[in-house]
Amino acid sequence: MWFFFGSSKPNLNSFLRPFVLSLRKIHSDGGVDWVDPATNENRKSMVRAPFSSMDAPARSQGLNMITHGGFFACGMCLVKGVSVPTIRGHKVVYPSVLDEPFVLRTAEQMREEALQATRAHAVNGLFGPSIISYIPRFDPARSVPNEFMHGCCLGVSKTFASVWLTDTRGDWYIKPSISWIDEFLAAILPPDTIKRVPRSVLLWLKWKASEWLFWLLFYSVPALLEFWTLENKFLQHWLLFVKAIHNLLLEEIEPYHIAEARTLLNLFLEEIRSLYRYRDPNQPAETPRNEWRWLSGDWMYTFNVHQIYHLPTVVEDTGGLWTTSAFDFEDNIEKLVNLIHGTNNIDKELRDNLQLLESIEVLRRKVAETHPEEGPEAGKARNHVLKVDLDGDEVQKLKLVVGDDQLTTADLCVYSRVTFNGKVHSSRSWERPEKRNSFTAKIKDSTGVFYGEMLYFITVGETGAS
Ligand SMILES: [Zn+2]
Repeated sequence: MWFFFGSSKPNLNSFLRPFVLSLRKIHSDGGVDWVDPATNENRKSMVRAPFSSMDAPARSQGLNMITHGGFFACGMCLVKGVSVPTIRGHKVVYPSVLDEPFVLRTAEQMREEALQATRAHAVNGLFGPSIISYIPRFDPARSVPNEFMHGCCLGVSKTFASVWLTDTRGDWYIKPSISWIDEFLAAILPPDTIKRVPRSVLLWLKWKASEWLFWLLFYSVPALLEFWTLENKFLQHWLLFVKAIHNLLLEEIEPYHIAEARTLLNLFLEEIRSLYRYRDPNQPAETPRNEWRWLSGDWMYTFNVHQIYHLPTVVEDTGGLWTTSAFDFEDNIEKLVNLIHGTNNIDKELRDNLQLLESIEVLRRKVAETHPEEGPEAGKARNHVLKVDLDGDEVQKLKLVVGDDQLTTADLCVYSRVTFNGKVHSSRSWERPEKRNSFTAKIKDSTGVFYGEMLYFITVGETGAS
């Protein structure tokens, strides 16, 4: 993560120079020497920066190449792009053709092109050498993967939703059905691991990246399916993208998940051309439908839409899309911004406050060593005792579950919320059921899969057997 202060962005080649030079020194020294505080032994560790997570503008700056939306703007392949007319003028798009794979860039080729290029004469989109390509073992063609949060959530998901909601040129237009979608969204009770409850589609311009993420993965398909809001051919097409991204976000990804995602994404890209075609606006309005002239859907192949072509390769290189996504970084940025209160000496204030936070953490850990009940996990682990009078029927059921016929309510402790295995679990007795639902559980046993509600948590006896 890097910071800069000022009215404009710094030149990345200058800004990152000290960082790159120190990585090169560590590489040539064979690592960093340090002393293990626990054993007092001398150790040597290598420090590497194999990948960098950047949004599209930072990526083009970092690689010293043309910005997204220009010819040869893709950092991973040599797609040139074509200029197409838009309502406001022209834009460069990158149409895909099934069975015509894009030629991928290589590190060697990029280094050669960068040496030939100047700012006035770009070579395949490159303006010259970039400092990050001098990081040891850094591959400029593959080490700056397409970033998921900006590319897919704020990019593709938002692009398609905006077309469905605002572009009246095709059958994809759904604005008249917004109230149905809103009704559907309002009825969703997400678990408390999802920070925000869904907001109205009317506010789509204000939706945050995480709202687009949940729209993409969980809400869009059932919401659009409801009352056939989006015409079936567009919905089926959207489903290709949703399923592919689901595969690429799994915690454990097998080669067949990637292969399937690649097929789905290639189909998704190919079909955009025919699905998102629109009627030539220059044709007289009274022309019969069977004589309409159609203009290709190439206008939809924006930079972000093109980037999804490379996502399976990114996952092969770096792991699930979440490994290089900006979501974690953005969360940290928010926390860091909250550490700054003044307008002068921002850098000093941030440094001092970070040191302070670090010192508090060190103290907490020291306390935890001697007084575990006061340590950093203590607050989180505190379970919420609930005063529930279990009726005779419930006690009878518990007797069966626990296998103790003599069980009485005096042996039981009832909780509304508990922490186990590092995760907080809420029961129905904890939550306001009109807003959230974290208490519905999927239960698997040898006979099948069931769904049920966690009403409360119970421990039996002092050892906490539950
Ligand atoms: Zn590309």
